[in-house]
Amino acid sequence: MDKRVDNFCAGPCTLPFSVLEDVRDELINFANTGMSIIEDSHRSPSYDAIHHETLNLFRNLANVPEDFAVLFLQGGATLQFAQVPLNLLSENQKSGYINTGSWADKALTDAKKIANTYEAWSGLQEGFIRTPNCNEITIQPNTRYIHMTSNETINGIRFPTYPDVDIPLVADMSSDLLSRPIDWSRFDLIYGGIQKNLGPAGVTVVVVRRSRLGTHGRNLPSYLDYQTHDDAHSLMNTPPMFSIYVMNKVLNWMAEVGGVQEFETRATKRSALIYETIDQSNEWYRSPVDKKCRSHMNVIFHLPSKVLEKKFIDQAIELGMVNLKGHRNVGGIRASIYNAMQIESVERLAEFMNAYKKSNS
Ligand code: PMP
Repeated sequence: MDKRVDNFCAGPCTLPFSVLEDVRDELINFANTGMSIIEDSHRSPSYDAIHHETLNLFRNLANVPEDFAVLFLQGGATLQFAQVPLNLLSENQKSGYINTGSWADKALTDAKKIANTYEAWSGLQEGFIRTPNCNEITIQPNTRYIHMTSNETINGIRFPTYPDVDIPLVADMSSDLLSRPIDWSRFDLIYGGIQKNLGPAGVTVVVVRRSRLGTHGRNLPSYLDYQTHDDAHSLMNTPPMFSIYVMNKVLNWMAEVGGVQEFETRATKRSALIYETIDQSNEWYRSPVDKKCRSHMNVIFHLPSKVLEKKFIDQAIELGMVNLKGHRNVGGIRASIYNAMQIESVERLAEFMNAYKKSNS
């Protein structure tokens, strides 16, 4: 096999090599069935075992309390922008959205089409460089929940702590799911696609407080109603079996390595290595983000010119470091360093940053 690259993609992204090897080895004969997981029935005992084990693994790793349902859905976090208000808001209730950047804005835009929603804070004027302090969040009367995006994948900012508001939070955790502990007492619902920290694309995890189910007063189509999925243990229709199977392996790997706490430590260490390189560069590398809100998953930085940025990306590719180009909305460089990213890859990036600065300044 040719050498694997250091893949800094924002998602889908790098996965543990041992998981890929297992998947390869089992691809044509899953659980001694004589067939592949992608040929198996979703009603078979062999798949059923993996399915329920994966639901339990997620519950255990994330420390989800009994009174919350764990659902594996399709449609991406993007569908949740609509499915959340459809399920959690009745006609006379409102929800407030903390607008921290591209993804929060998309969540708000779709929610507005469905229910009475408003912006509880916006970072637009400042250029989305930070998350708000709690006292900056405006909550209108009759608000059911405040929606937040725990990590803004494009803008490279995160909530260092969950906002201490006195109504329930709902969070899009797509880009930092299981990379930090979740204080469930603060949330009615969290959601996120698994294609960053937990596996390939195809599954959206929704964790919802069961007492909130069925309170919307709407006649929802069955797929759109969380209750249907909870009743059927996420087997109401054909689930994305292959993605759930790979997630099973990633979650087992995470549990073996030390669970969420270990991954929080690793994320802090990995991101600190790049931020230190930026901070020690005498502003040659610049981070646009407020220091206390710097993402531990997506590190964004700029070089002195667009020409130098392009050359940086090209030279990095030659060295086997790929997908470092920043999102088109913000430009610059983005290094996405999710759970499976090895510290050695980040060390190589930091080393390259120092060498590149030396030869170009
Ligand atoms: N929210 C955030 C924070 C994201 O990073 C993404 C994907 N990059 C999405 C939502 C959209 O997710 P999906 O593509 O799974 O719909």
